[in-house]
Amino acid sequence: MSVAIVWFRRDLRLIDNAALDAAVQTGLPIVALYVHAPDEAGEWRPGAASDWWLHHSLSALDTQLRARGGRLIVRRGPSLAAITRLIGETEAVAVFWSQLYEPAAIARDHIIQQQLQADGYIAESHNAALFVEPWRVSTQAGQPYRVFTPFWRNAVTQIADVLPIAAPASMRFADATLSSESIDTLALLPTISWDAGLHATWLPGELGALARLRDFIDEAARYGDARNRPDVAGTSMLSPHLHFGEISPRQILAALQLAALGDPGWMDRVEPYVRELGWREFVHHLLFHFPHTTNANLNRRFDDFPWATPDTALLDAWQCGRSGFPIVDAGMRQLWETGWMHNRVRMIVASFLTKNLRYHWIHGARWFWDTLVDADLAANTAGWQWAGGTGADAAPYFRIFNPVLQGERFDPHGAYVKRYVPELAGVPAAVIHKAWLLKPSDQAAFGIRGVYARPLLDLAQSRADALAAYASIGRD
Ligand SMILES: Cc1cc2nc3c(=O)[nH]c(=O)nc-3n(C[C@H](O)[C@H](O)[C@H](O)COP(=O)(O)OP(=O)(O)OC[C@H]3O[C@@H](n4cnc5c(N)ncnc54)[C@H](O)[C@@H]3O)c2cc1C
Repeated sequence: MSVAIVWFRRDLRLIDNAALDAAVQTGLPIVALYVHAPDEAGEWRPGAASDWWLHHSLSALDTQLRARGGRLIVRRGPSLAAITRLIGETEAVAVFWSQLYEPAAIARDHIIQQQLQADGYIAESHNAALFVEPWRVSTQAGQPYRVFTPFWRNAVTQIADVLPIAAPASMRFADATLSSESIDTLALLPTISWDAGLHATWLPGELGALARLRDFIDEAARYGDARNRPDVAGTSMLSPHLHFGEISPRQILAALQLAALGDPGWMDRVEPYVRELGWREFVHHLLFHFPHTTNANLNRRFDDFPWATPDTALLDAWQCGRSGFPIVDAGMRQLWETGWMHNRVRMIVASFLTKNLRYHWIHGARWFWDTLVDADLAANTAGWQWAGGTGADAAPYFRIFNPVLQGERFDPHGAYVKRYVPELAGVPAAVIHKAWLLKPSDQAAFGIRGVYARPLLDLAQSRADALAAYASIGRD
């Protein structure tokens, strides 16, 4: 009997899933497929925290499908071979999937689509992840944008005013005898247990995403004021759910618009949040048009920049949150404990690595890649290039975040630092971000020891060194 295959990748949801909807519209029985092929991501194969999320998200999708009488068929890659084999087993006539925008995925999907179409099958990709796909936005000269504001001004006019697609009211599934790997055999979970903090923080899967969105909607009007404060829950924490496609940006926008009914000023108050969704679009636009930037500077002037050769001990101290700078260490420990870090602190730790330590941003990008549950090639690449001054619309290299001033401004009571750096629990807020400046007797009284009495580098000297390095490369 003919069937339609839905090849799930990073669209692990039933609501607003155009590929799933297209498969259902065929009227054919469905096979829900996931192909595990991490090597196809090339050198950016998912890291350990992403794998943790994926395990739970696949399990959640399988549970949802089972509740509707189906299940997720899990196979191992290569993707083309797995799909072709499944077509042979099921007599499938059509394969539907959601578009990805990473260079390796684009290349692979193109080959698969060409092959399937050449063999006479319907092979369709749909947009599940973005408001506007990257090739639909360009400057008047037909070029990609490199600056966010004009990009977003253009993109926002193209956001179709359509409601998200509802989850299929009913689904007919193909023969239940198809073989499937169990999700456990993909070995996505850590063999030594470091994931307690992840379990305590997250509920991967579509239901977890919807719950997170519901909680955030109540707070969304405060986002503009709270978004830079790591000591309060001021952001949506939807990034891993968005990355794995457990929720779409259209669903988020529709939920905001629904909440705004009857309150005309409300959409203005949540505009700062919608703008961040715009940054998400922008980074996908950048990765699509400048795919080499995952490893190379977007601004080629920085190819001559004298980055320092990483000292293993210093790099290790940065990674493990033992630099002696409380806001930097709190961020890196939050990352290790929860798989996520507040955006303001991401900017601070990235400035510290690329400017005070003067290490190439790729060292930071790789660490984040392995440890973030929301690790996303578009956002991570753009974030690191932005922070390192080498990217599009980037923070100029000479703007070096001072972790003391940043800490005092955005964690004024030291609550964020105290949460993740318990060694500093007894230190008064007024001095917590600069404990090394205290007299030794005060340090002893507050229990300040080790790197917090003597941080790993001198802020003023490292700043001067970074500026001198910057002066040594030519101007645009
Ligand atoms: C060095 C560095 C690395 C980063 N790496 C990643 C990454 O791997 N994955 C990732 O999703 N984000 C990354 N970001 C962007 C940003 O820090 C996170 O998206 C944000 O902290 C996620 O938290 P949230 O969901 O509460 O965001 P909110 O503030 O609630 O924003 C809503 C959504 O908008 C998107 N968004 C917000 N800010 C940005 C941004 N600057 N760029 C792109 N999208 C954005 C995210 O999808 C986010 O979920 C990085 C930023 C920096 C400075």
